[in-house]
Amino acid sequence: MLRIAIAGAAGRMGRTLTETVQQNEGCLLVAATDRAGSSVIGADAGELAGLGPLGIEVKASLPAEADQFDLLIDFTTPENTLSNLAHCAELGVPMVVGTTGLSAEQTDQLKSYAETIPLCFAANYSTGVTLCLQLAQQAAKVLAEDSDIEITEAHHRHKVDAPSGTALALGNAIAESLGQSSEESFVLSREGITGAREKGKIGFSVIRGGDIVGDHSVIFAADGERVEITHKASSRMSFARGAVRAAQWLSDQPVGLYDMRDVLGLN
Ligand code: NAD
Repeated sequence: MLRIAIAGAAGRMGRTLTETVQQNEGCLLVAATDRAGSSVIGADAGELAGLGPLGIEVKASLPAEADQFDLLIDFTTPENTLSNLAHCAELGVPMVVGTTGLSAEQTDQLKSYAETIPLCFAANYSTGVTLCLQLAQQAAKVLAEDSDIEITEAHHRHKVDAPSGTALALGNAIAESLGQSSEESFVLSREGITGAREKGKIGFSVIRGGDIVGDHSVIFAADGERVEITHKASSRMSFARGAVRAAQWLSDQPVGLYDMRDVLGLN
């Protein structure tokens, strides 16, 4: 039985993760955290997830000892994720991280912990998006020569980072497959007299509104035809199921950095 702790248990993803862990016969929720000072501290994680009491109180900090949990799933904020990584690295506890919006420096810091613990980090844990990453790379190799590549994404009004981690991951995967640097090829926003579109750039467009769980499209626009690879998430369950699948897979892996493509055997 894999004993899982969830960081950010009161969040949109945290609550869905609690439900998913409970549904999985191989996993057991043993600890839950949220932000110190939040009104949810002391609440039951099961009640927050709409499941009824589970006897797991939401606390402001992770268990102090390594023998109290086997793995941490963290979908919170960059600062909290880095602080949890330091704690888990000290204890030797593996982590599944879904937090997005990390700066380049924070991403480097995160990756450095993979020298100490097994660490899975993916901007999107859905199986469908993971496949779209592969498809976008394949399509880019064939179509990039004659096409303009644009990435669009839409999310709910509460999302705080833009473009989404998934949109950036799609852009990075494409840039990597074309041997381009993302710094040079990404056009993250456009406004005013921008001039004509430059060849070889990867453009991003962002929509925020309502309760959209997460839509992503990669558009390869050529003269006379257009190819679009689109993924639409209709429930956070797709991310939570992927994250719990990653947790079970990661618990058997050696120290190192992994992503969802490793979990699904696509790498
Ligand atoms: P949310 O705001 O609903 O939840 C975040 C939770 O973390 C909140 O309950 C917040 O109080 C808590 N938190 C903040 N600071 C904390 C701290 N110091 N200690 C413990 N808890 C703390 O956000 P969300 O929609 O659940 O998304 C969370 C993150 O996951 C975002 O970065 C989002 O982009 C990302 N996300 C990733 C995927 C994926 O598949 N990788 C999918 C969905 C969301």
